[in-house]
Amino acid sequence: MTMLKDPSVKYRPFQPINLPDRQWPSRTITQAPRWLSTDLRDGNQALIDPMGAEKKNRFFDLLVKVGLKEIEVGFPAAGATEFDFIRGLVDSNRIPEDVLVQVLTQSREDLIKTSFESLAGVHAAIVHLYNAVSPLWRQVVFGLEMPQIKEIAVNGAKVLRDQAARFPQTKWHFEYSPETFSTAELDFSLECCEAVMDVLKPTPEHPIILNLPATVEAATPNIYADQIEYFCRNLPNRDSAVISLHTHNDRGTGVAAAELGLMAGADRVEGCLFGNGERTGNCCLVTVGLNLYTQGVDPGLDFSDIDEVISTVEYCNQLKVAERHPYGGELVFTAFSGSHQDAIKKGFAAQETRNDQLWAVPYLPIDPADLGRSYEAVIRVNSQSGKGGFAWVLEQDQGLKLPKRMQAHFSKHVQELADQLGRELQAGDIWDVFRKAYRQDGGRFELQDYEETKAPDGSRVFAGKIAVDGQVQSVSGRGNGLLSSVVATLQDAFGLGLEIRDYSEHALSGGSDAKAAAYVECVTPDGRTIWGVGVDEDVATAGVRAVLSAANAI
Ligand SMILES: [Zn+2]
Repeated sequence: MTMLKDPSVKYRPFQPINLPDRQWPSRTITQAPRWLSTDLRDGNQALIDPMGAEKKNRFFDLLVKVGLKEIEVGFPAAGATEFDFIRGLVDSNRIPEDVLVQVLTQSREDLIKTSFESLAGVHAAIVHLYNAVSPLWRQVVFGLEMPQIKEIAVNGAKVLRDQAARFPQTKWHFEYSPETFSTAELDFSLECCEAVMDVLKPTPEHPIILNLPATVEAATPNIYADQIEYFCRNLPNRDSAVISLHTHNDRGTGVAAAELGLMAGADRVEGCLFGNGERTGNCCLVTVGLNLYTQGVDPGLDFSDIDEVISTVEYCNQLKVAERHPYGGELVFTAFSGSHQDAIKKGFAAQETRNDQLWAVPYLPIDPADLGRSYEAVIRVNSQSGKGGFAWVLEQDQGLKLPKRMQAHFSKHVQELADQLGRELQAGDIWDVFRKAYRQDGGRFELQDYEETKAPDGSRVFAGKIAVDGQVQSVSGRGNGLLSSVVATLQDAFGLGLEIRDYSEHALSGGSDAKAAAYVECVTPDGRTIWGVGVDEDVATAGVRAVLSAANAI
C-alpha cells in the first residue's frame, strides 16, 4: 500500500498512434463547434444526490438560456424518474423549436423502445446508442469477441431505424458512440461505426452523429487528437457524419483533449457546465467556450451572467464550483499580491485610454465585465498586498483617490490590521481603518460653521464656530488663503503650530450627490508628518475639514 519505486511493473505507457503526417498541430479553431450538454445525463448520474424534477427543469431552462441547442436529458429506460421527467419536458412544451433533446440508450430492443416512447410527440430529437468496444471491456466486462461486439451495435441500429419509423411526426437524429473509443483499436471503432452507418444510411443532409468518447482519459491529449484525425481521415462517407467529442478529465486534460480534437477535425463537443461528471468529470463547456471567446471566436454560448450560471449549477448539482475553476471560480479575477494588483490597476487605467476595444490587461486573460463580474471584486487585500490593493478598494468603494505619499502612510495601518486579523480584509474593514486613521468620526475639534471674508489688503479672514471638546467657540484667523487662515486660527486660538506642506482635492467619482474630497499633508513643530482628510459638498469646506482632521491628530 505504497507508491512503487518502479511503477512500470504496474502501469504501462499508452502506445502512440502511427500518424507521422498528422495535420492537426498546425491548425487553429476558427469557429465554434456544435455543443451538447450532458449535464442532465452524464453529469446527473455522477451526483451524490441525483436531481429531482424541480432541479432538472431548472437546469434545463438554464441550458436553454445559455444557448445550448443540443441537450442530453437523460437515460429514459433507467427508471420512472428519468422517463417521467423527459415525458414532462415533451408534454409541457418546454423544449424550444430550435433545441434538440437527446436521450441515451444501451443497445437492447426493450430499452430502445422505451427511449422512443419517452420522446413520442416531440418535434425533433436525438437518440443516442452506445456500446463499449475496447479490449478491457470486451474481455473483462462482457467476455465477448470483436464480431459479437459489432453485432450488438448493428442490432441496436436496426431497432433505432425501426422505432423511428413508428413515430414519423418526429424528426429523428441518431448518435452512435463506440464507448471507450480512446482505449480501443482505432480500426475496430471505425468498423463498428461503418456497420452502424450501413444500417442507418446517413446522408450529408441528414448525417449521423459519431461520438468518440475518452470514457476514461488514458493518454496525453495529443494522442486523442491523433485518434480523432485518424478516424476522420479513414471514415468512408465522412460528410455524412458529425464527429463528436466526449472527453473525461481523469488526467486533468479533458478540456485540452477536446480542443486538440477540434483541431483534428471534429465538429461537436459533449460536456458539462463546470466539468461535472463521472469521477473527475466531463469536459467543461464553460472553459472550452470561453477559451474560444478569448481567441476572438464567438462560442454561441452566453455566459454574460456567470454568477447566475454558477449559482444554478451549484444548486442543482449540490456541488461547489471550485474557487480556482477557469473563468467561473470565485477567485479567478482576484489578485491578492501587491505586484499583481499594481499591474492590473495600471492595466485598467491604460485600457481606458485605448481608442480600440482590444483587451490587454496584465494577469487577466478576459475582461471580467464580459462575464458580469465587477471590477471591484478583482482586487482584494490581505497581508500580501501592497498599496495598490487598498487604494483601488477605496477608490472603487468610496470614490477617494489618495495622494501617493498618503497611500504610503495609510498602507501601514492596513498592513497592521491585516497582520492582526490574519485574514483577508473586506472593503468595510479598510473603510473602518481609514475613518479611524484620519479621524473621520470626529475628534477634539469639530467644525460647526464658518465664513470666509476678504480683507481690504487681499488677505483672507476665517471666522468660524468650532466645538472644542464639545464646547462651541467662536474663533478667527487671517492668512493668504482660506486654509492658511484656518491654520492661523488654530495657532491663535489653540496654540497649534501646524504647517501645510501639501494639499490636493478632487470631486468624488460616482454617486449622485456631488461631493469633494480634500487631503492635507502637515508638519508639526516637532517635525511629525500628519495627514488630514475632509469630505464635503463644498470643496472649500472639504479643505477646512481636512485641516481640522489633521489638527485632531495632534
Ligand atoms: Zn461520459
